Amino acid sequence: MNIIDKIKTAKLTGRGGADFPTATKWQGVLKAHSKYPDKPVYVVCNATEGEPGIEKDKFILQNYPEKMLAGMKIAMETLGAEKGYIYLNPVYYKKFAAKLKKIIGKLPIEFFVEYGGYICGEETVLLETIEGNRSEPRLKPPFPTERGLFSCPTLVNNVETFYYVAEIADGAYQQTRFYYVGGDVKNSGVYELPIHLSIGKILDETKNSPPFEFFIQAGGGASGEILTSGELDIPLKGAGSIIVYNFKKTKTLLLIKNWVEFFYKSNCGKCAPCREGFFRLRQLLKCRQLNIALLRALVQTMKDASFCPLGRSIWLPTVGLLEKIGLNNKK
Ligand code: SF4
Repeated sequence: MNIIDKIKTAKLTGRGGADFPTATKWQGVLKAHSKYPDKPVYVVCNATEGEPGIEKDKFILQNYPEKMLAGMKIAMETLGAEKGYIYLNPVYYKKFAAKLKKIIGKLPIEFFVEYGGYICGEETVLLETIEGNRSEPRLKPPFPTERGLFSCPTLVNNVETFYYVAEIADGAYQQTRFYYVGGDVKNSGVYELPIHLSIGKILDETKNSPPFEFFIQAGGGASGEILTSGELDIPLKGAGSIIVYNFKKTKTLLLIKNWVEFFYKSNCGKCAPCREGFFRLRQLLKCRQLNIALLRALVQTMKDASFCPLGRSIWLPTVGLLEKIGLNNKK
């Protein structure tokens, strides 16, 4: 069985948050390569991880860089890639580049440091940035598998996905993934556990089940979904992060303000619904009497009209928090 078939059998999906089947992505690159045989193929490792409350790629880069690079090497060989890029955020570059360079040796893999912030984690923004253009997303389709870096077939996978490609190649993959558990817990950190474990079980297994009334944010500390303690009997989707909030101690309006502030600073400014939307949200949240109906209408419009996922991200946590928890502070 070749490696793509093995990845397919293992049902590996992208661990950057989108959960797209990895084998399908690789097959898409091969297909595009046979369509455009004169164009080179590129493989890019996305190591930008910039959302608060997501630290699993950092953990892998720190503890298993060889494995991540082994997965990347397998991808380059399988897809006939001319060159690979590792796209790191500046903090990770400073921490991990020297060690990675040593392991890479003479392989044709180059580093690229992302200075454009969180939005550069979106795969088309990442490609635009490597090409030297403004850090803005592209319209999809065409997808990067067909027209990626310099309009050539390109595979973009994240750190954890490459880690598990190497595990699959070694016959060691046990249907696990990396989770970050943080917030109001005693044992915050990154844990490797089965993918189908429910969120409640993950909290139990990591000895992080709170003894107080709580709610969680699942899948990221800004864009993640809000779940009450009665809704944890489901597996975790997205980027593998669970943040626990103490019901009594958490100022929920402040939480929304923090999310808005993060996205306000991170958006690229390309489209009005997101650029203006976050500006107006900030204004709205400063009002003495918060107009909740207007807040809901605004995040709904941003969800419906923004060009890329970043502008749509604020809707899910905000509406979840308003509906399930409510606002408990005025400032
Ligand atoms: S949604 Fe936001 S980040 Fe995305 S293109 Fe529009 S302004 Fe840029």
